[in-house]
Amino acid sequence: MFDFEWKFNGKKIRPDQLEKEFMKSAAKNVQKQLKRNIESQRCPTHGRSAKFIAKYRNSLEGMNVETCCEEFKNAMLKKFAK
Ligand SMILES: [Zn+2]
Repeated sequence: MFDFEWKFNGKKIRPDQLEKEFMKSAAKNVQKQLKRNIESQRCPTHGRSAKFIAKYRNSLEGMNVETCCEEFKNAMLKKFAK
């Protein structure tokens, strides 16, 4: 049996690391997309754009939206979060 050395994003990884590496990469992609979607929105009252905050680059935890007012934040969370 061959012992494969998988590569992910150009890095060699062990099979037991695959899920972790995949999650990191997935988190980055999700954050990138959320940032683009969220920061293209503007508050209907104040005309200011929202800011996407990601505390950890490789995790889906610690993500937040910063806005000029509570109403806009609620609208954004309703649209992009659960
Ligand atoms: Zn506002």
